[in-house]
Amino acid sequence: MKKNQIKTVKGFNEVLPPESFRWRMVEDKFRDLLEGYGFAELRLAMLESTELFARSIGDETDIVEKEMYTFLDRSERSLTLRPEGTASVVRAFNQYSFGKTSEINKLYYVGPMFRYERPQKGRYRQFHQLGAEVFGEASFYQDAETLVMLAQLFHTLSVEGVILHLNSLGCEACRPAFRDQLKSFLLDRQTSLCSDCQRRIQENPLRALDCKNPACREAVVGAPQINESLCDDCRDHFSGLCGLLDDAGLDYQVNSQLVRGLDYYTRTTFEFLAGDLGAQNAVAAGGRYDRLVEELGGKPTPAFGFAIGFERLMMLAGDKLAPLSSPFAALVPLGEAALRRLFPIHVNLNRDAQVTTLSFQQKSLKSQLKKADKDGVMYALIVGPDELSQEIAICRNMRTKEQTQLPLRNLEEALQELYHEC
Ligand code: ATP
Ligand code: MG
Repeated sequence: MKKNQIKTVKGFNEVLPPESFRWRMVEDKFRDLLEGYGFAELRLAMLESTELFARSIGDETDIVEKEMYTFLDRSERSLTLRPEGTASVVRAFNQYSFGKTSEINKLYYVGPMFRYERPQKGRYRQFHQLGAEVFGEASFYQDAETLVMLAQLFHTLSVEGVILHLNSLGCEACRPAFRDQLKSFLLDRQTSLCSDCQRRIQENPLRALDCKNPACREAVVGAPQINESLCDDCRDHFSGLCGLLDDAGLDYQVNSQLVRGLDYYTRTTFEFLAGDLGAQNAVAAGGRYDRLVEELGGKPTPAFGFAIGFERLMMLAGDKLAPLSSPFAALVPLGEAALRRLFPIHVNLNRDAQVTTLSFQQKSLKSQLKKADKDGVMYALIVGPDELSQEIAICRNMRTKEQTQLPLRNLEEALQELYHEC
């Protein structure tokens, strides 16, 4: 790369061909599955008021404290590039009063997210998520349906070895007592904790359970377990969910330290972890957030959602996808007159799918056939001055090298027929 060329901002992951074709295949499978379960797509703003994330994700989370792309615009408003999707979907749910038109709202999104993290394998500053949220359903059946649907996506993509980790964080009835227990446990070990966790003990002690610092990980071994402090309703919700997952044959591990890096969760939280991903092993994550709609100014509405890391999903699914399809035939003109004759055939045939390639560059027969071979086409249709005068095209089978003649007059129909035969 030359010195004066401009590059992407560090850690901003872009998707280039042929990878972009594979992304499309996976995205299509995601859309088909979700639409089958009654979800509809939202395409939302990528830039939001900073306050939206401070109020929803939580002031004292890593995301809000350290990872957001926040700046003042020309009118000195504080704006933030969205670090995740849920806050924006809830904002939209309230702003457009979705709850008024329908009791249950199932919404999904696909798009880039932005976090100022240290770029490494599976971790970028611009990355992409496939996510969904369900509003208006408090039943644990909803949690189960969504988790089974995610497992079905992994199955459809032949992604194996992904394990569901599950926890319940309780609700406003039972969590305060647990927080107090955890607070006193952490205060006893205060000096072993990182400075962030020490600072957060009073306001947000649960954050220590999510801290990635090895010293903190060690210090919280033996911490009180939230699932032992759940109220009856939360316990019923969790055991109801576990029972449905058992019935559906979906394996899971209860992980009592799974609190997630966002403050809005109530009751169910989960992560799908993949051994093959190394240190960045969470491929999807989410949970229930029954209070957030209200906290962001809406009517009390229970909700459940998830986000899949698209890059991480592609690392798991990438090489198991069907190979990309090649164009069917190469049109090989020799000379301007032949190119002119083949051009309308080329554009007519490619209307619905890529059937033909056509070079506009007047290349030699040899180089055009070499390119056709590289593209993996089935046939090359060669037309030079002699063929033009005889109103024919030479049809070369690229595998057998057999050559036949086709009348130029109805070449389009003949190719159409061959294409549909194979
Ligand atoms: P991690 O523990 O890996 O930091 P997280 O808990 O911060 O993940 P969430 O906010 O729950 O992640 O986002 C959902 C999913 O998005 C993650 O499970 C992961 O697959 C993906 N993800 C999160 N941050 C990044 C990133 N910086 N780069 C790529 N993918 C990411
Ligand atoms: Mg993170």
